[in-house]
Amino acid sequence: MITGKNYIGNSLSSKGSITYKTFNPKLNIENTTPFYEAATSEISAAVNLAAEAYKVFSKISGKKKAEFLNTIADEVLSLDDELIQSYCSESGLPEERAKAERTRTIGQLRSFATLVEEGSWVEAVIDTAQPNREPIPKPDLRKMMIPLGPVVVFGASNFPLAYSTAGGDTAAAFAAGCPVIVKSHPMHAGTGELVASAIVKAVQKTGMPNGVFSNLNSSGIDIGTQLVQHPKIKAVGFTGSIKGGRALYDLASKREEPIPVFAEMGSVNPVVILPKALKNRAIKLAKTYATSITLGTGQFCTNPGLILGLKSKSLTKFINNLGKEIVKVDTKCMLHPTIFDVYEANKQRAVFQKEIEVVGVYENSVKSNYARQMVTTVEGITFLENPILHQEVFGPYSIVVQCKNEEQLEMIISNLEGQLTGTLIADNDEENNYPKIIDALQNRVGRLIFNGVSTGVEVCPSMNHGGPYPASTDSRFTAVGIHSIKRWVRPFSYQNYPNALLPKELQNENPLKISRLVNEEQTVNEIKTS
Ligand code: NAP
Repeated sequence: MITGKNYIGNSLSSKGSITYKTFNPKLNIENTTPFYEAATSEISAAVNLAAEAYKVFSKISGKKKAEFLNTIADEVLSLDDELIQSYCSESGLPEERAKAERTRTIGQLRSFATLVEEGSWVEAVIDTAQPNREPIPKPDLRKMMIPLGPVVVFGASNFPLAYSTAGGDTAAAFAAGCPVIVKSHPMHAGTGELVASAIVKAVQKTGMPNGVFSNLNSSGIDIGTQLVQHPKIKAVGFTGSIKGGRALYDLASKREEPIPVFAEMGSVNPVVILPKALKNRAIKLAKTYATSITLGTGQFCTNPGLILGLKSKSLTKFINNLGKEIVKVDTKCMLHPTIFDVYEANKQRAVFQKEIEVVGVYENSVKSNYARQMVTTVEGITFLENPILHQEVFGPYSIVVQCKNEEQLEMIISNLEGQLTGTLIADNDEENNYPKIIDALQNRVGRLIFNGVSTGVEVCPSMNHGGPYPASTDSRFTAVGIHSIKRWVRPFSYQNYPNALLPKELQNENPLKISRLVNEEQTVNEIKTS
């Protein structure tokens, strides 16, 4: 049941005086439950509990953490239809999408459970002592990853499950051994509370310390700001806009003790269509891209917002067909009236720019909060000279840039801000003739896609979801897949430490049978002591 209250550890709490409601964009009405914004005393209580919980949770075995993560997955599933209905009523997204996102969320939790139960992820490295080494003896040194401390997670509006309360950031932080305080996204506070109740049940069922998880409601930036500034918070996970992510990054770096902010932000995901592909498949590509641009009402961080090609008759044919195809797609509801308003404003700002041409826009009347998709086009030089055109228009919008020649195409790519993905469309091995274009693209993105679309992020260990700033604040880490756990840990060395006091991962006997680098050899063997 949705109560509208915060979870401070395992207890429901509503001490704040500010309330707000979520919104059903499809029906264009407010949902009924009032949500109590967290009071400053509740923020302090949640952070203090998390700091206490860290002392126990950071040392809990991989097996127990796996049980916790799997129980969260079971409890989220047992929310059943209540969760799906809440998701749809707070996002305007269809039921199939809600179910698919739930499957992804469950899969993420279970894959982290498998990772920590096996245990080798801690990257144990052991160099045994050489007491007789000349000219000085070598000490015994043993290193592994340890959790950073309490983490604050900000969820995104466009993924109420997979990038929110029990989403990738939370699952990875729990797996690492970090308590989590979620700053609930105000647009889906009810869905967030339901998922929070599932996590709290899992905390209680598996005997995790109270405070390992809290869920705080907020309708503005104040709660998040206070959390990021709290001295007991040691890291931040954020998914959202560049503006929001950058504000939190700056705030965290100005603290007396700066902390890392792993912000995954917006992107325009450039698509380069090479000449032969344009010549062979202009019509088919237009259909494919009309679908990709409008998927999920364009509300994906991997939406193809920028398409680049060399000026030609084939490019003109592609543009004209994309303009025709885009208006054939049924309009869909956006997540919230605010997101709809920002989309409309950003679209307007784009079309007011000099020398931009609209090649397709849905013009029929639409229901409230339904987005009218749009495709525009400009010359390469106009795009190069106007950075406004480079910015993400979050929604079903894309701009096609007609480049004068290969040099201009390369320059445009090299001048782009960092991106999550880049896509190369090529036929008949023509990609071999464009090494500079491919290099330029690789320098600007976190993932290169060949002959496909950027929408759709597979969750698996080889996925990199991140990229040069501003796609993310730290391009060395992925936000998706098991390796995202590395954001929440730091390396730690023990020198000449008594075997019995070492964590099991580093003991001579290797009781967990994990893979370790021992004296420069990767092995699961124990260390024999004479
Ligand atoms: P958003 O407006 O940035 O909001 C995200 C969260 O951050 C909200 O809870 C918001 O709090 C908080 N926030 C924003 N600015 C803040 C500030 N200055 N100080 C403190 N907190 C702040 O983004 P959104 O509309 O939810 O999400 C859409 C964006 O996310 C798009 O740009 C999309 O591309 C991006 N996205 C990226 C990824 C990725 O993996 N890279 C995935 C999904 C979405 P309040 O709402 O309370 O103000």
